[in-house]
Formats: sequence, structure tokens, C-alpha cells
Amino acid sequence: MKLVFVLMFHIVLAGSQAQIRVRCSSDVSRPIQLQDGDQLSLRTDVVIPIVFHVVWHEDEENITDQQIRSQVEILNGAFASGTQASTAILDIFKDYAAKPGLRFCLADRDPEGVPTDGILRRYAEEAFLADKKVRGRTSIFYDEFGGSNAWDPSRYINVWIAVSNRFAGYATFPGEVDFPEEEGIIIDPSYIGNIGSAQQNRPFHQGKTLVHEMGHYFGLRHIWGSFNNPNCADDDGIEDTPPQAQAYSGCPFGTMISCNSPDMYQNHMDFTDDNCSLFFTIGQADKIQSVLKQYRPGLLEQDICTPKTNADPPISISYGIGAKLVHLTNLGDQILQGQLRIIDLKGSIHYEQRKTLIDQIYIPVEYLATGVYIIQFYNEQLLALKKIIIY
Ligand SMILES: [Zn+2]
Repeated sequence: MKLVFVLMFHIVLAGSQAQIRVRCSSDVSRPIQLQDGDQLSLRTDVVIPIVFHVVWHEDEENITDQQIRSQVEILNGAFASGTQASTAILDIFKDYAAKPGLRFCLADRDPEGVPTDGILRRYAEEAFLADKKVRGRTSIFYDEFGGSNAWDPSRYINVWIAVSNRFAGYATFPGEVDFPEEEGIIIDPSYIGNIGSAQQNRPFHQGKTLVHEMGHYFGLRHIWGSFNNPNCADDDGIEDTPPQAQAYSGCPFGTMISCNSPDMYQNHMDFTDDNCSLFFTIGQADKIQSVLKQYRPGLLEQDICTPKTNADPPISISYGIGAKLVHLTNLGDQILQGQLRIIDLKGSIHYEQRKTLIDQIYIPVEYLATGVYIIQFYNEQLLALKKIIIY
């Protein structure tokens, strides 16, 4: 039992006090009931909107849009069809690997239909709102308790980015929450994506924590079964994942055996390091699709999510230090219209205007205080970004 504890927990130092924090605190005691024949037949990937709620207390918790966007790409690598399977999957399990056929994007309209970039930012007066309850409700899920209200969970997946003393990741299981406004996922900011603060968070620096939590959100259990009962009889209820006695951590090499069969420690629903968390199985992909149809059918409506293509926008953004001007140049031959924003690293907006970019435009920024800012120019099809430092 002691070994299990060592495997399942890792130590997080907060100030001078050592605290124990669980990698993922999601567990479900009863199997999710699915009706027979409730299988989706997907011809194309379902596109699912996510809204991220960045509820930050310390500056470094207010991670950048780019770090969040890198996480969306990682989710798509794990869930979307047509994305390459990892070559590092053990040969004995290669034929089991499957993509569930979901594609995620940042919501581009809010519940009232107003355009949005799908990222909400709230400064929290208090730290650790994910761990705090007020009148039986967890504070982070409510504006009135200093957190951020969910957007309708039948239409969006809500992900709160916030620090908890108790866990790095947490997700609600389908049909298990008492209050629908608390349905969603909570992730520590340094576990999001693969850039920015994630880079200092090895070995959890490849965005696999949200892949794992998203698995829970669509009904998948830990591959070894339950937290409290690690043995071979306790299973995850998926046909093609072998029985496994308990969680793996780190990055094992080669065939590892428990319960008389090789263990699938590279599965996203184990606890291995991000570089070793590589695939879902066919059985898990089927389960995710069935849960989607039965428990989250509103997510199948695709009208609130238009993925922005982000590849090489035909725009150059530069900053002239002496002149204190931001300079945008249209490198293509089409006139571009979009929103021009200047935000600081806390997400506060210092400039926002709709612009038509024919050739070039200059924006004076002499009013900005010393600091780091992000210049964004975006519309439905593109997003151009540039970080500038004002001395
Ligand atoms: Zn988990």
C-alpha cells in the first residue's frame, strides 16, 4: 500500500511547507451505464468548443493565450482523426491505438452569441479557490464567490485553469455532479500546453494532463481501475485494456507485467510522464463516442465553434523602440479585416479596435507603461501574434 502512495502522489513545495498533491483527483465508484446500440457513427470529427477560465492569484498563474492554444493542439493530437499515432507505442499495443474522432477549438461565440476568443480571465482575491467551499459550492465555479461562472456545459466544455493544493488535474464524470454549473475540468496552469510555464514543469510539460482529464470527462476510468482498490479484479470496464494492478509513474521501458499480462502504461489513462502518455485504445475511443452521444449530445451541435487556422498568417508585426509605434504589414494580396488588441501578461486589454489592413498601419503606443505586451490581430480565419517589450 505504501508503494501505491509513492506512485500516485508527487510532492509539491509551496513556500516552506511541503504539501502532498495528487496528480489527478478524479475517480468514480460506479461504472457509467450506457444503453445498447448507443454508438455514434461519425463520418467526420465532431468539433467541440472549449472555454478556458483562467482564475489567477499570482502573476505567473495568468498564463498566455499561446500556452492555452498549444494545449488545444495537443488535445487534437490525441483525439482527432488523421493525426499520427506515436512511433514510441510498444509493438504489442500498436494495433490497439485509436483516435476518438473529436476535434477541440476555443469557443468563438459566448452563450449569447457574442464573439469571443474562448479565454476568460479573472483575478482572484484569494488563492486556492478550487479548494474552497462556500455553502456547499466550490468557489472557483461561481462569479459570486470570486471564481468564474461556467458557460452552459451542455454546449461547451469548461476548463478552469487554477492552482489547487490538492491536485494537478480534476474532471467531473458524466452524470456524477450534483450541480451542472460545476461540470468541467480544473487544471494547474503549469500543466497546460507545452510552452511558457509548462516548460519548467517537467515531466508534465507536454499537455497530457488535460488529455487524461478529458478522458475522464468522457467517462474513461483510470486504466488500473479505482484509487482505493488496486488489484487485478478491479478493472476500468474497457475490453481492450489489459487488467493492471496499479498506477505507473515515471517512464517505464519495455514490457512491464502485472495480473499475468503486459501493462499498457503508455495509455493516456495511466499516470506516466507526459512523454510516455501516448494513446487511447479502440475500446476507449468507442466509450468516449458513446458517452458523448448519451450524456453530452449538445456538444454535437457544431455551430458555435469555427476553428481558426493559425498557420502562417500573412501579417508581420513589429515594434519600433525609438518611435514607440507598433507596425503591422499585410504580406498578402487580400485586404484583411480583424480585431487589433494590445494586452499585457495579466490579460488586461490596453487597446482594442477593429482594423482594415490594406498595406500597413502604425499604432502609437507611447502611453503604455514599461512592461511586456502581446499584440494580436485576428479574425475568424487567422491569428497573428507578437510579443513586445516596452522599456
Ligand atoms: Zn485521472
